[in-house]
Amino acid sequence: MLGTKLYAPGDVRIEEMPEPTILKPTDALIRLAATCVCGSDLWPYRGANKVDAPLHMGHEYCGTVVAVGSEVTSVKPGQFVVGSFCLSDNTCPHCRFGFQSSCVQREFMTGAQSEFARVPLADGTLIALDNAPADDLIPSLLAASDVLGTGWYAAHAAQVQPGCTAVVIGDGAVGLMGVLAAQQMGAARIIAMSRHKARQELALEYGATHIVTERGDEGVAKVRELTEQIGADAVLECVGTPQAMDQALAIARPGSMIGYVGVPHGVQLDGQRLFFSQTGMLGGPAPVRRFLPRLIDLILDRKINPGKVFDLEIPLAEVAEGYKAMDERRAIKALLRV
Ligand SMILES: [Zn+2]
Repeated sequence: MLGTKLYAPGDVRIEEMPEPTILKPTDALIRLAATCVCGSDLWPYRGANKVDAPLHMGHEYCGTVVAVGSEVTSVKPGQFVVGSFCLSDNTCPHCRFGFQSSCVQREFMTGAQSEFARVPLADGTLIALDNAPADDLIPSLLAASDVLGTGWYAAHAAQVQPGCTAVVIGDGAVGLMGVLAAQQMGAARIIAMSRHKARQELALEYGATHIVTERGDEGVAKVRELTEQIGADAVLECVGTPQAMDQALAIARPGSMIGYVGVPHGVQLDGQRLFFSQTGMLGGPAPVRRFLPRLIDLILDRKINPGKVFDLEIPLAEVAEGYKAMDERRAIKALLRV
């Protein structure tokens, strides 16, 4: 089969490799319908994470089950499935509290930028659809596997409520999904912080009511002006840089929550500032599995269209161009047709 390997920064290749096999009785094998490149794949691609051996890339997936291990009971060959990028048993205490991304058996999905993939912990990770989905829904179902679920978690963790004012920091794919989630959860005002025209347009389409193009102190001043100097009721931090976290703390009103889903790189928090800000913070890798049943229903009922976040669609064989386009910010997110 064809699969994607990252050999070194900037060196991502599509190549022939053996098809995966069932290694544990809790595994499933799927034939991918589509897969994609994640913003987090760009960290090793850009050399920010060390690459020792070729990495078999890809953790976002949906497709058809082709085989299951002897202990798998909830999915069977022929079913179309969507799963989280975090693999979980969905039975341990953390899973039962809704934090499947901290499952005691947690693994992270790999090898999904391929024609076939092995999904460990299939029973606790995958959701099977009743019927094969319409082809035009596949991008949205794929988005549910990571980027939509992560934006949704950011809005949930920030405690977006009907009528509230939410601010979304970051206009990458996750930030845009955060806008969509805040809109679905009933926010009256959604302020998207974005400097890029195409991303602003998509944010508006997903429900943003205001766009703030300024950054840093100017961006903070603009949000404070829009909120009568009170600050936001809910802040979604979808970047992970010190500047983004600093902005989040500066615009969150006392008593509000910051949902942070950008993987922190160099973020340091000051205890006294946190103490006097009186804001709460909840973040981490998104427990996508908690939200998947609801998100899949919204997609199948065509109430949301997260698949629009893919502004580049290419065959899997051209995966290297997908990485390049996202690295150069020519694309928000690249979908790979298998
Ligand atoms: Zn668990």
